[in-house]
Amino acid sequence: MRHLFCAAALCLAATPSLAAADWSRLETAAASLRDKALAGSEAYPLLESLTTEVGPRLAASEAEHRAALWAVAKMKALGFQNVHIEAFPMPQWTRGEERAEVLSPFPQKLAVTALGLSVSTPPEGIEAEIALFKTYDDLLAQPIGALKGKIAVVTQPMVKAQDGAGYGALVRMRVAGPSEAAKRGAVAFLIRSLATDDRRAPHTGVTHYDPKAPKIPAGALSAPDAELLDHMSARGLPLRLKLVLVSRLEERGQSETVVGEIVGRERPDEIVLIGGHLDSWDLGQGAIDDGAGVAVTMAAAKLIAGLPQQPRRTLRVALFGAEEVGETHAPFAKAHAAELDKHIIASECDFGATHVYRIDLPAGAASSPYGRALANVTARLPAALGPGPARDGGADLEDLAGVPLAELAQDGTHYFDLHHTADDTLDKVDPKELDRLTAAWTTFAYLAADSDVDFRAIAKAAEAPKPRR
Ligand code: ZN
Ligand code: ZN
Repeated sequence: MRHLFCAAALCLAATPSLAAADWSRLETAAASLRDKALAGSEAYPLLESLTTEVGPRLAASEAEHRAALWAVAKMKALGFQNVHIEAFPMPQWTRGEERAEVLSPFPQKLAVTALGLSVSTPPEGIEAEIALFKTYDDLLAQPIGALKGKIAVVTQPMVKAQDGAGYGALVRMRVAGPSEAAKRGAVAFLIRSLATDDRRAPHTGVTHYDPKAPKIPAGALSAPDAELLDHMSARGLPLRLKLVLVSRLEERGQSETVVGEIVGRERPDEIVLIGGHLDSWDLGQGAIDDGAGVAVTMAAAKLIAGLPQQPRRTLRVALFGAEEVGETHAPFAKAHAAELDKHIIASECDFGATHVYRIDLPAGAASSPYGRALANVTARLPAALGPGPARDGGADLEDLAGVPLAELAQDGTHYFDLHHTADDTLDKVDPKELDRLTAAWTTFAYLAADSDVDFRAIAKAAEAPKPRR
């Protein structure tokens, strides 16, 4: 039987691999980088600088352009090479006046915000009776025409979960809800914010219109205001609302992704890609979404650049524009199509400013020398290797066909308390947590960049049929 096991081992041995002593040296270097990050990285000063000197930076806005110039200057100051901007065209959406109130039978003001890319109401607003649904599926169960002339309101709450599963389950309500309501005759659409907090701060987020349906204005109510409408509607009387959601869309806009590198000393054409997104919603400062991801990945690269010698491979940091409206992944993949097969691994940091508790790698990698070294070094954070394979490397990487992806899962228990609100501000970030996050990203990126791990070959070996006994 023994030779059969050897056959599988040979299969793995056929992929390039450093000697055990080399991996041991890499592990020691990674542990030292981890400890440097924990002792105080550049992440918090970078985040403080971005939120203070730039602040909110809506996709394609003048502020997002200032953020790109900020990133270029910081990358150069940190010693990155090949720093450049990759611009791409896209429409620019701008928020205007927004307010809502119950006109009758119980007049009260409501806290509301427009969903990103919502069409505008007339400046004087819309007045109509509401049709309230406790769940999104209740709305979808309505026949065509059933909501004629009404403002459709869905008050379904989102479930809190460490991994953000509640958001994943309900985000279709925000993205597709306005068109579904419009198909049924509604003149406007409101949701309870996709949120896990009880503040009176509504959460925005992008929506997309189905070209086959009329475009109607769409907004989100704060959780307490959605509950208020539940209480009012329980009285069985028709509720009349006034809704003002003014916005503007300019077709000719431009967003920018900023790229910088620590160029590899032996294999400069091989790329380890990390990054975050530079744009943010306009209500807060974009501290947790995603100033944290920007700052952490820049700080991780800075730590790696500070080693006595550059890593074997190129470490590339991409700070994406226009993630919030979903515009970046296609132009980025197109711009880098010729070198996709040279990408060793890619991952985006975009889930707030808290620590990593689990890392999922491509198929088979958890039991590779890379996976063992990563597990040994991150155990002290503590973060554990998940079973993998990683399902998702981040929204901006979804078009990088064939590129191995990793997922560094952060504790998102409180992420959706602040996400896309006016409360996404620097004071919510704990510098020590940000350094823990940086330590995980530094370790992950360094071990891939300074080794010859081949995730494609490992995945192929892992997925190959096992020898039969
Ligand atoms: Zn984000
Ligand atoms: Zn976001």
